[in-house]
Amino acid sequence: LINGNELWKTYKLDSTEVHALRGLNITVGEGEFVSIMGPSGSGKSTLLNMIGGLDNPTKGDLFIDGKDISRMSEGELTRMRAEKIGFIFQTFNLLPALTVRDNVEFPMRNLNGSKKMNKSSRIKKAEECIEIVGLGDRMDYLPAKLSGGERQRVAVARALVNNPKFILADEPTGNLDSESTENIINLLHEVNQNETTVIMVTHDAETTKNTRIMKIRDGKIAE
Ligand code: ATP
Ligand code: MG
Repeated sequence: LINGNELWKTYKLDSTEVHALRGLNITVGEGEFVSIMGPSGSGKSTLLNMIGGLDNPTKGDLFIDGKDISRMSEGELTRMRAEKIGFIFQTFNLLPALTVRDNVEFPMRNLNGSKKMNKSSRIKKAEECIEIVGLGDRMDYLPAKLSGGERQRVAVARALVNNPKFILADEPTGNLDSESTENIINLLHEVNQNETTVIMVTHDAETTKNTRIMKIRDGKIAE
């Protein structure tokens, strides 16, 4: 389902080159919950962004559901992201001027073709996802009025709204206290039980229980 072969990512800054990934191989099967760990700068975010089609490998190929994403056009990538992938970030990345309901509704605007939805169905679906994360009483709040844990729950609802095949979470609990951390990890496991594949970058071993752990070092899988 996800298959990366000999992935290299080289960033060029002026005359220096940074090899963020150095021939990394990765396979993730359908419905798995994978935790990616490793030192700062080892290439974890680079790898996640690549799987999510936000960035391209310099060398190597990366198949998502049998399609080589290093050969997709920008349009195909955008469509793949909208239909298949939910992102969750350490810093939440909610739109500050939009309410909880509108933040969660937002990704559905990117659906096209047979997946396109009218406004009232989008709102209904957004509200269902907000209920799932336990924020039914916060629909009309702006992000600034929410706690960190609540903001991340909104981000989880937003990631779920297009029924993605993959959730990619980059240190989703990095800014949360232990209670909110547990809450978000439990939510991710619930999502995973419903057959969504979850790939999570984390520094916290506590969050990796009942997941397959991959360790990255110097741009390669070490363990
Ligand atoms: P952290 O745990 O600190 O988040 P990470 O494992 O996610 O680290 P990456 O963000 O993937 O690490 O970065 C890997 C390497 O690539 C680092 O040396 C980083 O400085 C470099 N790098 C990442 N993004 C860029 C970029 N856009 N331009 C240049 N270098 C980059
Ligand atoms: Mg990172």
